[in-house]
Amino acid sequence: MVNLFKEPDDLGAPHECCCLCGKPTAYWYFPHDDGFAPNTQGDEVACCRDCAARAMPADMPSKQSWCDREYRRIQKAQGAA
Ligand SMILES: [Zn+2]
Repeated sequence: MVNLFKEPDDLGAPHECCCLCGKPTAYWYFPHDDGFAPNTQGDEVACCRDCAARAMPADMPSKQSWCDREYRRIQKAQGAA
């Protein structure tokens, strides 16, 4: 499994979608996390707890590939509307 950190409850923003299954989630995976605190280097990706329980660090997409995929997904959703 991979380690997740929950975003603050008072963030007020809509949840990002899990980078593996697309389900909205308040949890994030930090590739450089040391197990104690989120280590934000701008490359964290949203990940739900279900996927994190099954995933290995090698399964996690990079921030860049996740953003590219999200962008295409949104474009496609808008195109279909
Ligand atoms: Zn997921």
